[in-house]
Amino acid sequence: MPEGDTIRYAANRMRPVLEGQVPEVRTPHPRHRMGRWPQRLHGRAVRAIDTHGKHLFLRFEGELTLHSHLRMSGSWGVYPRGRRWRRSPHRAWLVLRTAGHEVVQFDGPVLELMTESRTRFDQRLAGLGPDILVEPRFDSERFLARLRQDDPTRGIGDALLDQRTVAGIGNLWKAEACWEAGIDPWRAIARVSDDEALALVGAARPRMLESARTGDQDSHRRVYRRAGMPCPRCLAPIRSRGQGDDNRRTYWCPGCQR
Ligand SMILES: [Zn+2]
Repeated sequence: MPEGDTIRYAANRMRPVLEGQVPEVRTPHPRHRMGRWPQRLHGRAVRAIDTHGKHLFLRFEGELTLHSHLRMSGSWGVYPRGRRWRRSPHRAWLVLRTAGHEVVQFDGPVLELMTESRTRFDQRLAGLGPDILVEPRFDSERFLARLRQDDPTRGIGDALLDQRTVAGIGNLWKAEACWEAGIDPWRAIARVSDDEALALVGAARPRMLESARTGDQDSHRRVYRRAGMPCPRCLAPIRSRGQGDDNRRTYWCPGCQR
C-alpha cells in the first residue's frame, strides 16, 4: 500500500532519470485524452520532483506541475527503455519517456496538471499537516497543535491516519508506530500525552526514512497483517479490527500496548 515512504522511494528513483530531461509525455488513459497534456508539456524540462506525505509533484519548466496521489491501488514504475512493465499497459495513466527510461504511473486515481501557484493555494494541499519524512527536522509543534484540534475522543491510531495532522502515515505505519511505542491504537487522543504522541512519530519516522531509501517496508512489519500470530515482544496473539469512519483495519497487541 502506498504510504509516504513508498512515494518518497518512487521520487528518489525518478529524479536521476527525469530531472533536467525533456520527456515525451503520453496519457494513454481515456480520462486524460481531452487534457492535451502532451501538447502542454511538449519541450518542457522536468525542473524538480518532490513529495509531501503521499502526494508527489513533478515540476516542469513554465510553472506547470503534475500532481499525483496513488490512494490504495496506484503505483509508479521506473524502467529502462525496452524493459517489460510490471503492470499491464492498459493500466498506465501517464508515461514519461526519455532516451533511456520510461516512468509510468499505473492505476492513478489522482493525476492532475496544475499551475505552480495552484499547488500552493489548493485547499487539499495547503491543509496538509507536516510531512513525517521532511528533513532535516519534523515540525513537532505543528503536529501537536493539529492533534489537539482533533476530536479528543478519537482513537490515536485513527488520528495518525488524518493527513491534516501528519502527512504520510498510512495503515501499515499507523499499526507499527503504535506497536513500537507500546500505545493502544484505540486509546483516545485525550489520554495520549504530548510525549507519547511524539514517541509515535519518533517510532515511525526513522523506519519510514529507511524504507524511502531502500523500498523495503516488509522487514519493518511486526504486527501489520499478522493477526493471530504471536507478538514479537510479549507473545500474546496479535489482534485486528476495523477502526474509524473508514473502518481501516488496525493491528495491535493487547498484551503490551496500553
Ligand atoms: Zn505484545
